[in-house]
Amino acid sequence: MPTKFHDDERVLSGVNVVTPSGVIPQGWIHIRNGVIFAVGNGEPPSDARIDVVPGWAYPGFVDVHMHGGGGHDASGSVEDVKAAVTFHGRHGTTAALVSLVTAPVEQLVTSLANIATAIETRESDEPTILGAHLEGPFLAHAQCGAQNPEHLQLPNGELLREFIAAARGNLRVITLAPELPGAMELIDVARSQGVVVAVGHTDASFEVAVEAFRRGATIATHLHNGMRPFRHRDPGPALAALASGALCEVINDGVHVHPAIARDVVDHSKFQLALVTDAISATGAGDGPYQLGGLDVIVSGGVARLRDSEGLAGSTLTMDSAMRRALSAGLSAEEAALASSANACRVLGELNRGSIEVGRRADIVLFTETLEIREVLIA
Ligand SMILES: [Zn+2]
Repeated sequence: MPTKFHDDERVLSGVNVVTPSGVIPQGWIHIRNGVIFAVGNGEPPSDARIDVVPGWAYPGFVDVHMHGGGGHDASGSVEDVKAAVTFHGRHGTTAALVSLVTAPVEQLVTSLANIATAIETRESDEPTILGAHLEGPFLAHAQCGAQNPEHLQLPNGELLREFIAAARGNLRVITLAPELPGAMELIDVARSQGVVVAVGHTDASFEVAVEAFRRGATIATHLHNGMRPFRHRDPGPALAALASGALCEVINDGVHVHPAIARDVVDHSKFQLALVTDAISATGAGDGPYQLGGLDVIVSGGVARLRDSEGLAGSTLTMDSAMRRALSAGLSAEEAALASSANACRVLGELNRGSIEVGRRADIVLFTETLEIREVLIA
């Protein structure tokens, strides 16, 4: 008698399954209706289609800092937003925030509306767009990096409310510099509207940054980059973030920070590291001239720098390569999985995704034994 399979059912077998409580060697994952139905080792359940996929199963990557990819700047049209996220989907990202650099207010409002439209018209088999991340405009001139200084503003609750309205419920994170006048009050406004606050592009002292985290900020935007540097008598926002238990974004491309930085955050707490790309449109699109927030950027050897100052201008990183580099720096598979999905999901309140556990969305990246992507499953 022929075995009947449910079309919406699949078992991945013979794979090292990376779960929050460690790796299940030669395990299996039973997926039903896009959700993880069971996980185990030994004989897989026999009533479903079984695919033997030697290698590794990681939870789908969740990138909370992404500006573009595949030649598409996600501050552009609705199609650009979707195309950028789809590009990163091929590199294992199953959910992403779309980050917007500082720009004129009208332009930010348009971009936020486009992100909302992209979310509202998304197909279910595409990576999830979790919402928008405003990287600005309430940032410090002294640490603006590749943010266009012409469009920086002082904290302004009315303006934040305008951004929240433009995003139609999809503004999830705002990066701000807490030392600016009115910034602490702005943290209160953001929190009261359900927007997560990140500290970044900041010249804050350790004390001021600690106060921001105490007041409700929960993320440090690309730790060590775009912030007052750590010094032994002036440890600045980086140590404040680590000491406050904040989620610490790290651009683990081997250029923005030393590879030991990712290891250092995990040594502090394995629940604090978030690998992010900070990828710009040039990612996957080759070297050459590009634009970021109206500034000219030159990408050479995969490194994006401002044409004028040669400061770093985002990255051309993808999440699979960030994770491989983290493993090379000594992270365990379990730590790398937390850092590339679950930790960010916890801070965003995305509790139905981010780990390979019963009841979660079946967002899974399958790797070969040599850590090349074999398949990306989206629910
Ligand atoms: Zn960025």
